Amino acid sequence: MPESWQEKLEERLRYYEDLGIRLFYLNRRVGITAKSGETTERPAEPTDGSPEIALPGPRAETSEAAANAQALRVEPVIVPSGPSLFESVEKVQGDTLLKIRDDIGDCTRCKLHKRRHKIVFGDGSAKAQLVFVGEGPGADEDAQGLPFVGRAGKLLTQMIEAMGLQRKDVYICNVVKCRPPENRAPEPDEVATCSPYLLRQIDVIQPRVIVCLGAVAAKTLLETNRGITQFRGQWLEWRGRKLMATYHPAYLLRNPNAKGEVWKDLQKVMAELGLELPRKKSS
Ligand code: SF4
Repeated sequence: MPESWQEKLEERLRYYEDLGIRLFYLNRRVGITAKSGETTERPAEPTDGSPEIALPGPRAETSEAAANAQALRVEPVIVPSGPSLFESVEKVQGDTLLKIRDDIGDCTRCKLHKRRHKIVFGDGSAKAQLVFVGEGPGADEDAQGLPFVGRAGKLLTQMIEAMGLQRKDVYICNVVKCRPPENRAPEPDEVATCSPYLLRQIDVIQPRVIVCLGAVAAKTLLETNRGITQFRGQWLEWRGRKLMATYHPAYLLRNPNAKGEVWKDLQKVMAELGLELPRKKSS
């Protein structure tokens, strides 16, 4: 196998390994097939001369995910833990991401400003159909002013690409825009002060789907004290939009066994957005 093919294959397999998909077998008739998705017909030969690689059965799994998504549209009851954080947030006429960033300014509204280097506002498409919401910036994000650029961010990028998207196609932001010291979880007063900006960002973008990465993001938007494991992977409704909570990529770095669960969650999101796993071009 030429070196360039091998590199492509290794890179793609690393994506799936990072998502917890490790079992592949060689189907001599159709090539390499993921254990979780069988290909029943031999695809046409690729035009670019590269080897045909069928990875986790996109069509089969996507339709299965679609069925799961349908089944999970029964909304579980999320009991708000207190007065709504968002009730007092007024809709700003003609709001834009630029205006929100201007309003944040060189913010000192909560104590997180004291040790931050850069405000991490958010990144991606202002017209994204999919928004990822994390907890708060870490050290790399604080240094660069961009969300999810450290190790966890690299994994998130791989997850997004495995969905057949690029980072520029989605929007990525956090509940709090400044790094909590020592990567501690943001405190309730910090969340309460900063999250109205998140609400405005989502209102401006109007995504079809919001994915909360980790408990802090999920609990903040859903205003619940319930543990994330009680509703992770289920479709919920949030202010008229579809919301799914899944594990934070940083959690996945510590607990690689949970990657498969997250991949299942992302497949439900793909089904909802009408996405299919990318396939190699064939003639
Ligand atoms: S976390 Fe939010 S509210 Fe607090 S200082 Fe930073 S931008 Fe302002």
